[in-house]
Amino acid sequence: MTTEPIEENPAADKSGYAKSIVVLNTGDGKGKSSAAFGVMVRGVARGWNIAVIQFIKSGEWNVGEEKVGRQLGVDWHNEGEGFTWNSDDIEKDKELAREGWDKAAAIIEAGQHELVILDELTYLINWGWIEPEPVYEAIRNRPERVNLVITGRDAPQGLIDVADTVSEVKKVKHAFDEGILAKRGIDY
Ligand code: ATP
Ligand code: MG
Repeated sequence: MTTEPIEENPAADKSGYAKSIVVLNTGDGKGKSSAAFGVMVRGVARGWNIAVIQFIKSGEWNVGEEKVGRQLGVDWHNEGEGFTWNSDDIEKDKELAREGWDKAAAIIEAGQHELVILDELTYLINWGWIEPEPVYEAIRNRPERVNLVITGRDAPQGLIDVADTVSEVKKVKHAFDEGILAKRGIDY
């Protein structure tokens, strides 16, 4: 990651050109995170500084997108690491989620990345693990050239409201329903 300020885009002041965009991929079908990583590849092609924060997946999952992201120079953060998934430890999980969000908020606010991907962010809000309003505020008040891609099922209305582009991926069929497990190279 460089500490150089992000270069001005001369097109940005012309009408019709947004300085940055917030994309939200939600819904119950497959394709939300993979679409986000498609945008990551586009950003790499434009020479952008990119950060990915994966909220639910632990580093132990060793997802393919992390491997290639790191190879491409993306700043990668696994904030699902340490979740216990145990109701006895729910307070601990909430604390870790809040720490994860605080890190993401700091990355956004620093304005050093043209693209920040917040993968599976919706769950933290839906489960009540983080306060929604500060999230919406951080998105609204982000540095003007920081694009965001946010993923996760059941996006809350507040997130839909602060996004520019919202897609709902609808499940028509999923192999999982036929008992087929997640496939390496396709699902992770
Ligand atoms: P992908 O990462 O493949 O784009 P996704 O981000 O849309 O999927 P998630 O809800 O984050 O989907 O699900 C994570 C994992 O579960 C992925 O391996 C994905 O392939 C799989 N998955 C996605 N949708 C479904 C579904 N409707 N039923 C079962 N498994 C699913
Ligand atoms: Mg996903």
